[in-house]
Parts: sequence; structure tokens; C-alpha cells
Amino acid sequence: MSRERKNFIVRNEGFICTECDFENDPAKTGCRNHCRKCLTSLHVDNTVPGDRESICRGKMKPVSLDQHGKKGQMIVHRCLTCGKNIRNMVAPDDDLDAIIRLMPQP
Ligand SMILES: [Zn+2]
Ligand SMILES: [Zn+2]
Repeated sequence: MSRERKNFIVRNEGFICTECDFENDPAKTGCRNHCRKCLTSLHVDNTVPGDRESICRGKMKPVSLDQHGKKGQMIVHRCLTCGKNIRNMVAPDDDLDAIIRLMPQP
């Protein structure tokens, strides 16, 4: 299976989302590791967040929200390629509607 090269940059730099083509600015605080419009991320970390050691590079879709103690809300991303779940901090400028869509329905 040949896969096109992805240019999703996960360090704290601006990037164009491979899912929705939204042009993301670098994060004001912390690290921009997912699209703030559709919350899509890429599987680049292996065991430690930020290690960039994963050989998977699959697209990661937000699947749910997780309450993580003092850290607050985390987005649970699931890799479409290998199925791994990874939690990421919600960024202050993430799209609120996208976050709300991840909340459990009443
Ligand atoms: Zn996006
Ligand atoms: Zn993966």
C-alpha cells in the first residue's frame, strides 16, 4: 500500500491540516499537536508524548473526551492506521463546537 507523504507538522509551528485544510497558527502556549478546527492529529509519538518516535504516522481522529485530574479535559485520539489511543491536552483555542461534539450525549 503506497501512502502519500503527509506534511502535518506536529512541533509548535503552523501547519495546514491534512483533514480539513484549515491553516493552523503556532500555539500561543504549549504545543500545537492537533488541528484546532477539526481536532485531527497524526500518530507521531511512540511511548512518550513528544518523542516523535512512532513509525506509524497514521491519521488520528478525536473519539472522546477524558477528564484527567488537574490537567482538565483531554482529547482521546484514535489512530486510523494502528488503532492506538493517545490523549492530548485541549488547547485554549480549539474549536468549541468540535469539543462539544466529543462530549457524551445526554
Ligand atoms: Zn483540521
Ligand atoms: Zn498509529
